This record gives sequence, C-alpha cells and structure tokens, in this order.
Amino acid sequence: MSVVEVENVTKTFATDHGKILVLENVSFSVGNDEFICLVGPSGCGKSTLLRIIAGLERADSGRVLFRGQPIEKPTPKITMVFQLFGLLPWKTALENIEVPLEVLGVPKPNRMHIAEEYLRMVGLEGFETTYPHDLSGGMKQRVGIARALALKPDVLLMDEPFSSLDELTAKTLRELVLNIWQNPVLPTNTFIMVSHNVEEAVFMADRVIVMSRRPGRVIGEVHIDLPRPRSSYLRDKEYFRYVDDVVALLEKGETATKDRSPISLTADQSEVSKR
Ligand code: ADP
Ligand code: MG
Repeated sequence: MSVVEVENVTKTFATDHGKILVLENVSFSVGNDEFICLVGPSGCGKSTLLRIIAGLERADSGRVLFRGQPIEKPTPKITMVFQLFGLLPWKTALENIEVPLEVLGVPKPNRMHIAEEYLRMVGLEGFETTYPHDLSGGMKQRVGIARALALKPDVLLMDEPFSSLDELTAKTLRELVLNIWQNPVLPTNTFIMVSHNVEEAVFMADRVIVMSRRPGRVIGEVHIDLPRPRSSYLRDKEYFRYVDDVVALLEKGETATKDRSPISLTADQSEVSKR
C-alpha cells in the first residue's frame, strides 16, 4: 500500500491581482521505503505541494492520503526539512531539536535525551549548547534534519534542503541523508525531496517526478535504476542518460504550458488567472 497518495490536488492563491492557479490536478503516490524527488521550475508550486502533504496548507480540491487517511492538519508522522533551516536563533542546537517534542508534550528529560541522540546521529556531538548564529550553513541544516527526525516520522519531506549550501557541504549532506534513509534502525524510510537540481535528483531518487511550469502539473516521471551507492556512477553515461531524460521532460513541461496558456491564463500574460 502507498504511504502517501496525492490525488488530483488543485490549489489557488488569492492575490491583489486576482487568483493564481498554482497546482492543477497533481496526482502521484509514494510507496514505503521510496525516495522520491520532485523537480520543476521555480514558482511551479513545489513548496506549496510539500506544505499540503505536511498538512500545513489545504488543497482547494483533491486530497492527500497518509496510509489511506486524509491529511487535514500537521502530524508528527510527516515532518519537514526547510531550505533555510527554520531554526530559532534564541535557542541552542539541542533546544531547537527539542521544540517539536515539547509541542507534543514530551517531558523535559526525555526530550533532551532524544535530542542528544539525534544531534549525535547527524554528527554534531559537542555542539549541544551552540546557538545557530555560531553554526555554519551545513551544521544548521544538520540540526534541521535532526529536529525533523527526532519525531520519528514515517515520512520526511525536504524542501530544497541543500540549495543554500556550497557544493562540498551539499555533497556531504546528501550522503548523510541517504545513509539515514537506508538505516534500518530508523523508522523514517519514505522520503520526498524537492529539488531544482536535476543531477542531485537523479543521484538521490528512486523516482524523479517532473512538474511543469506554473500551474504545476505532473508531466511525467523517471525511474532511476542505478545501483546504490551511486557516487561511483557520477561520471557514467548511464547517469547522464537519466539526467537527459529528466531534462527532456522539463522541456516538454515548458512547451505544454505555453500551448495551454490561452486557456488557463488571462490576456495580461502575468500568469495571473482572474475569476
Ligand atoms: P516553488 O516552490 O515551486 O518555487 P511555491 O510553491 O513557493 O513554488 O509558489 C508557487 C506560486 O505560488 C508562486 O507564484 C508564489 O508566489 C505563489 N504563492 C506561494 N505561497 C503563496 C501565498 N501564501 N499567497 C499567495 N501566493 C503564494
Ligand atoms: Mg520552493
């Protein structure tokens, strides 16, 4: 059975210029143990889609199911890692990991213990009392990852988690995330990651789902059948063939949207559809 099912999700936002259609009939499902990457042009609704899956935002129509049940509000079973980390500057690394546990009512000694365990897992032992200000970008994202995992979710959502990091740091953190995904001791084994970096998506995913320019629709998907670990494949023809397949779908998404534009958009070509 699927862990997450996105069914015909459509979403609009009201703006000063009228309503904008951001997601249109988005459907896909994600199985247990799967690592999914969502790619698409900037502004196509990827973050909005993740927020809907996380229960932080409601779809106008369609729904998202978690193990068969509609998601209507945030649940500790599905947690998120943010692009800009989302740490509280006035709390230490350890306290930041404790925040969602505290919200769930986990008593102080227990949540400290859990936070320490997860801080260690992401390689930050010794930085318990350090404030975000004194951590590098990569270290902040390690805290963000630990905070999301400390709730022991089934599903981890990641919104461009490496795109604000330098390439060397990003490379290290990609490996860390893949190790966490493959770690049989951890309960979190369904990963959905947004990326606009096609090579990163092909490196990490079992399946890359490609979205069109806004309004975001699913254009197609590419199954990545490269063996793991994949670092030795990064210069391989086969790896680049997958990258080309994803890029071809992205290009198809551009054309398809242009062809459709007179239908879904108004004449002021500002991509704003007035109602
Ligand atoms: P992506 O993550 O793919 O870059 P987003 O989901 O962030 O795209 O945004 C999709 C579109 O929806 C953008 O045009 C953005 O400006 C708009 N948008 C996102 N959130 C809101 C909001 N709360 N109110 C109005 N417009 C929004
Ligand atoms: Mg985004």
